[in-house]
Amino acid sequence: MLTNRRRTKKITLGNLVIGDCSPVVVQSMTNVHTRDIDLCLAQINALAQKGCEVVRLAVPTKADTDALPEIIRQSPVPLVADVHFHYQRALDSINAGIPKIRLNPGNINDRQQVEQVIAACKANHTAIRVGVNEGSIVERKDSHRRQHEQQLNIIDLMIEKLTEYVRIFQDNNFENLVLSAKCHNAARCIAVNRAITQNFDYPLHLGVTHAGDIQTGSVRSAAALGTLLAEGIGDTIRVSLAGDPLTEVDVAWEILSSLRLRQKNAPELIACPTCGRTEINLIEMVEKVKLALTPIKQHLTVAVMGCVVNGPGEADGADVALCGGKNFAVIYRKGQKVASVPADQAVDTLLEQVNIFLKRSN
Ligand code: SF4
Repeated sequence: MLTNRRRTKKITLGNLVIGDCSPVVVQSMTNVHTRDIDLCLAQINALAQKGCEVVRLAVPTKADTDALPEIIRQSPVPLVADVHFHYQRALDSINAGIPKIRLNPGNINDRQQVEQVIAACKANHTAIRVGVNEGSIVERKDSHRRQHEQQLNIIDLMIEKLTEYVRIFQDNNFENLVLSAKCHNAARCIAVNRAITQNFDYPLHLGVTHAGDIQTGSVRSAAALGTLLAEGIGDTIRVSLAGDPLTEVDVAWEILSSLRLRQKNAPELIACPTCGRTEINLIEMVEKVKLALTPIKQHLTVAVMGCVVNGPGEADGADVALCGGKNFAVIYRKGQKVASVPADQAVDTLLEQVNIFLKRSN
């Protein structure tokens, strides 16, 4: 377990605490129209079932904010309204009872409008995530508008912009903040978030923006978020993927459980990559075991290994393990050999032992 979490201020969303060394919170975002209440709630419920603890929604139109009261009423998790171009949508969302909004003050030109939003958030105890985005900074850097900006690198510019934004909130005595700095480049994402910790003590939301498809985006997110989290940086995370948001939640939990930061109430599957020693169809077995374990809502470690030479050692510590041989497999429970069966019975026998383990541990 990592013990070097960065101490920050904290915010609360319902019963959920973000920051101040609280467990890192998993977020995702819907990709349906918020105004379609049933569709939106179905996705929020599916995300919550997967372990998503905060769900962000885009509210680009009045129809979307009109839908919020009912969605908030039925949602099992706290919601965040993404309002970053529309101050009026921000006010509508706050009035609807949203516990948090995502706002980029740089996208709202009129300072008075930003201050109106801050006042409404204060009155309603609504939190705000203030974000700075690499994309908008790159545009500024290329615009040659301010000469000294050319001498600063992107990281410095992002910190400068964030400082400018945060000052607006501090001038208005508003502290209910979460900060974020999004880049699509994992190395830059690490650098800018490290820099934020040197400058601010607000809770930090981590994410790699426009990370890519499931494979590329998962690797980029694991590289950036994993590095930062291992350094104790980050209070909430979102893995952004061009794909089903449910996958984002799975990947986020994999990152957290790999670092032993959090443990989901779900099985943890260990599988060997196979090699020239493998004599069973391990990949197919792994798929079958993974599917069969999906409904289980309890943590246990299950290992599926390709050989009895290295398998038992590699699977040491697993609650239940399968180690393949030539047309057979040996099954272990808590390190004890409990069966040796033909390969075609291996998965069923492993799953029987999983059930025995679960019964005995409850
Ligand atoms: S567990 Fe055995 S089969 Fe699997 S990769 Fe290791 S040596 Fe190869």
